[in-house]
Order: sequence, then structure tokens, then C-alpha cells
Amino acid sequence: MAMEALTYDRALAYKDEFPPREYETWQPRKVLLVLLEIDPFADKDSSLAVGVEKEYGKPAPEMKSLGSEVVLSMKVLKKHYDALGSYLHIQSLKHSKTGEGLDFKRFRNRCGDITEFINKVLSSSVFNCTLGRFMSIKCIECGNSIRKRIPVGEKIFEAKCYNCMATYIVTDDGAGNFKQAPHQLKVKCGGTGCHHEIVVWQHELEVGRHWKCPECSGVNAFALGVTYEKASNN
Ligand SMILES: [Zn+2]
Ligand SMILES: [Zn+2]
Repeated sequence: MAMEALTYDRALAYKDEFPPREYETWQPRKVLLVLLEIDPFADKDSSLAVGVEKEYGKPAPEMKSLGSEVVLSMKVLKKHYDALGSYLHIQSLKHSKTGEGLDFKRFRNRCGDITEFINKVLSSSVFNCTLGRFMSIKCIECGNSIRKRIPVGEKIFEAKCYNCMATYIVTDDGAGNFKQAPHQLKVKCGGTGCHHEIVVWQHELEVGRHWKCPECSGVNAFALGVTYEKASNN
């Protein structure tokens, strides 16, 4: 429960960016995966220090430490969280068949390791610190405003509207200006001789999705296909 509580706390620090459809996700590993998608540093330890720059853009010669934070990482969750499950549930048929019993000495050791780590996290002098640069765009599909953490060192990145799922390719010109291009494709009607085109969002490209062509009234659907290339003869 401590591991769960720490992960949910961490998610709260990202609440403006956490997609509402993930609110029902409770497994800490899945929650952390969502956080890592938002911020690759979400499960990394950090230290915070401030200092006055002597020269603009160059690190200050003197830094004053504000403290450090140890975060419950994916590595620890992977190692310990699932392993606890076997002690919380009745043994599976497979295990009782093979006669594999529970090793309570190992369980105690594991709990000891977890406690040690939880203590480190909770005694951090900085807690739940997230830093980032943000930009916001307006969704042209639903009008929702999209707030996006700018990925470190990336000039082109994707932003998603969690209201209607539309995605955008955002380009950073380096001077604080962002250009947004809707992630859309033009798709031509499959009817012979019909040239009607519709515009679909990237997230709408799904096998089985269909539409009626307003020009020829035929029905188009996305389907799986196979492409083939003949072997070259050299
Ligand atoms: Zn939208
Ligand atoms: Zn058509």
C-alpha cells in the first residue's frame, strides 16, 4: 500500500497532464508508465540547487543546495510490487500442484528491503518536485486547450487532446514560438472514378472504421492489407 500511495502521490504532481481516461488505472506500474510518457524523468532522483548567474545562460559559479529527492522508481516497483501478490492471494492451482510452498523468510527479507527504500523516499528533503517548460495550444476539433510539457531537447513533438483524442505535431522554432499541425491525413474514396477525399485524424485510422462517400454514396472502410514486392534478380 505504501508503494501504491507513493505512486498515486507522484501522479498528483502531474495532475494537469494526467489523462482523465487513466484515472481508473490503479496498478502502480501502469500509473508510472503513464507518468514516464508525460515526463521521462518522472521516476528519477534529483537534487535542487539555485544560484545567481554571472553570465546569462551559463551555470552560476556558486550554487546553494535546496535538497534532494529519492523517487520510487520503476526498477523498484518491477522488482518488488508484483512479487508481493503471491502472498496476498490463495496459491494458484499450478503452485499447489507442484507443492511449491511460500517462503516466509524470503518474504520477510523482501518486506525489509521495501521498507528501507520507502524510508529513503519519505525522508527526502524535497518531495514530489517536477520541473518543466510548458506550452499550450487550442484543439481545432473540440476547442479544448491542450497543455503540454516540452520534451527536453526536442524541436518537434506530439501533443494530444485528451478530450477528443486529436493529436498535433508541434514544432518549436527555438524563440518561444510553436507551430501546430493537426495530425491528419487525406483519404481518397475507393470507388472507381470517384475522386472524393475526406480528412481523417491519425487516431481515427482503425481497421473496420467506415464512412459513406458523399459523392458516390459508396461505403469505404479501413482494412488490413498486404503489400508485395517481387524479389530483385541480382
Ligand atoms: Zn480536442
Ligand atoms: Zn466516392
